[in-house]
Amino acid sequence: MTVMSKAKRALALVVASAALFSVAACGSGSSASAGNAADSAKSDAAASGKIEVVASINQWGSLARDLGGDHVEVTNIMTKTDVEAHDYEPTAQDVAKFGSAKVAVVNGADYDPWASKAAESTDATLVDAAETAGIKEGDNPHVWFSADVRDSTADAITAAYQKADPDNKDAYAELNKQWHDKEDELESKIEETSAKTKDLPYAATESVAWYLADDLGMKDATPTGYAQASANESEPSAADIKAFQDALKDGKSIKALVFNSQEANSTTDQITSAAKEGAVPVIELTEQMPQEYDDLLDWMSALVDDFASAVK
Ligand SMILES: [Zn+2]
Repeated sequence: MTVMSKAKRALALVVASAALFSVAACGSGSSASAGNAADSAKSDAAASGKIEVVASINQWGSLARDLGGDHVEVTNIMTKTDVEAHDYEPTAQDVAKFGSAKVAVVNGADYDPWASKAAESTDATLVDAAETAGIKEGDNPHVWFSADVRDSTADAITAAYQKADPDNKDAYAELNKQWHDKEDELESKIEETSAKTKDLPYAATESVAWYLADDLGMKDATPTGYAQASANESEPSAADIKAFQDALKDGKSIKALVFNSQEANSTTDQITSAAKEGAVPVIELTEQMPQEYDDLLDWMSALVDDFASAVK
């Protein structure tokens, strides 16, 4: 970066702090101390010159990092693959991280309502991944599995960075291009793989990878009673579970089982056992991105391989 752009950024920060100062002063009635508190809250990001970004889930956080490179500091809230993903209860610390962020990335579609709520009362530019593709509450919320949603979310994140840090507009455009090149490679791989997976009937313990299976041309053959109970987050009836088990043991109408190990329970144990009995391949995955992957696209690419290898 040039000396000039550093100076410009310093000026931009002074202006931003002044704006923050006046807002803080209105609320507190103690202008001097409020200004100081606001300054120190921003000082870490100011010192590094990086945009502070918070992401509710680590898969979107990895996208935010790839699109920001050295210009951003990303904090992920949910990173574990062994905790309840839906109905997550944020800590006070989690919520506080939204307070200092310039850009907040949430999943939306009622997957992480706590995160949208935490971002609401802050100055952060909000990127709601589901919303960028017109997916709403009540639709399948696992939108990071969708190529369309990844594409539109990436562009929304880049736009948020360019607004927050206009001096580096071109750098963000270049990182966006690099990311799309990699996403395009993944989409080509999905297209090639779909020659094998097209029309393949599969079932799922939870419709977690529905968008990816759809991109692969696969047919969701999860027995209706079970699928409806799962979508409503209610307990499937004994008859629903038995119908699912019978279909798996039969090994004819279902050719692969998607098992979300992050939402495992005694019912899913019964279902995976039936898949083993019927020699139906089990594709195991989680809600959040496992630590062994560098980013969302590497993880998706590995899952495409898993789906491909399930086809006999
Ligand atoms: Zn889920």
